[in-house]
Amino acid sequence: MSSELSTHVETLSLHAGWRADPTTGAVAVPIYQTTSYQFRDTEQASNLFALKELGNIYTRIGNPTLDVLEQRVAALEGGAAALALASGQAASAFALQNLARAGDNVVSSTDLYGGTWNLFANTLKDQGIEVRFVDPADPEAFARATDSRTRAYYAETLPNPKLTVFPIKEVAEIGRPLGIPLIVDNTAAPILSRPLDHGAAIVVYSSTKYLGGHGNSIGGLIVDGGRFDWAAHPARQPALNTPDPSYHGAVWIEAVKPIGPVAYIIKARTTLLRDLGAAQSPFNAFLTLQGIETLPLRIERHSSNAQAVADFLIKRPEVARVIHPSQQTGEARRRADTYLKGGYGGLVGFELAAGREAGRRFIDALKLLYHVANIGDARSLAIHPASTTHSQLTAEEQQKTGVSEGYVRLSVGIEHIDDIIADLSQALDVAGTLARAA
Ligand code: PLP
Repeated sequence: MSSELSTHVETLSLHAGWRADPTTGAVAVPIYQTTSYQFRDTEQASNLFALKELGNIYTRIGNPTLDVLEQRVAALEGGAAALALASGQAASAFALQNLARAGDNVVSSTDLYGGTWNLFANTLKDQGIEVRFVDPADPEAFARATDSRTRAYYAETLPNPKLTVFPIKEVAEIGRPLGIPLIVDNTAAPILSRPLDHGAAIVVYSSTKYLGGHGNSIGGLIVDGGRFDWAAHPARQPALNTPDPSYHGAVWIEAVKPIGPVAYIIKARTTLLRDLGAAQSPFNAFLTLQGIETLPLRIERHSSNAQAVADFLIKRPEVARVIHPSQQTGEARRRADTYLKGGYGGLVGFELAAGREAGRRFIDALKLLYHVANIGDARSLAIHPASTTHSQLTAEEQQKTGVSEGYVRLSVGIEHIDDIIADLSQALDVAGTLARAA
């Protein structure tokens, strides 16, 4: 069964992009651990290089195992095509570099994963691409920061640590009439949210997190929605509308027309991936496909367990504040309920009233939860950002990014909820002794 035969994510997660190996009948997706592919003849070889025919040339640019992963994630997102990459970082970088060149700019939400922030504020800046950060609480801030060199808007659906859902439709609608696509990192909310349905043009993933789900493979993807009109404002998107000297003068919008509305993603594959080489290994793609098979079930359990954890934490005297969409009110809650369906995801933050030392004690006392810098694993994970991921920031910068001294981030896994709560409870008892001693 392929994506044409079902619209249900439970079915697509298992079947999109693959039925069985035509030669051997193998049902599991084979790991095509090969660098290169035998051409039928010289005519086919030159057609492949000229994009007159699509097919395998060299694994840096494409591979059959990765192709299944790409088709599956594109189907889950309701997109036209996808590109798998070595990591989520490569996906965010390519998503913007595919449109913006030196002298151009991008307007981004301030609420970002720290690694993306660094990429935008430093590395892209060094490449001459300016990223203008705006507060997503006010969607109009995107319009105010836009000028004639703005090539894209960028945001995360469910950014941590704040866990305030991004106004996808509102910002997509500001950009569309100007020819500016909204690119959304949906890493923390697969299945729960499909940003393309709300007007986003491109979706980015770190598949390292929930898609893979088992903490064993770094990977990333870009999904092209196939619905954004890149040609409507040609001056706005020169990368797709003017001749590309790196591909014998191809104008991507024209060159890709016979293949479908996928100029954006074909360009990313045939130029950025070709030149920068951030290819994902076939073995990682295989493991990520294994993970995706159970993604809808896992997300359901991540969400219900995280909700139970939020409900438990709110009653504990050691906890000053719980950060979870279910605790939000007003516009933030409206956005959460508009853009997330079927649960609020697996992330929960909370603040220990007794501050930094209590945070450290809490983490050190955990027995079941792992203390790691990751999210989206089937196992429950915890981290104290003030003493780890955000320790290089000043107290003021930490506050801006939503990290207080006593903030603890949990990525709630799919273990039995009683075991998760028992571990949190005993660790809070330990952290609480500090508050009582003080
Ligand atoms: N985007 C988000 C929301 C993330 O949480 C992460 C990693 O933590 C990334 C992107 C980067 O992904 P990767 O670690 O696969 O490069």
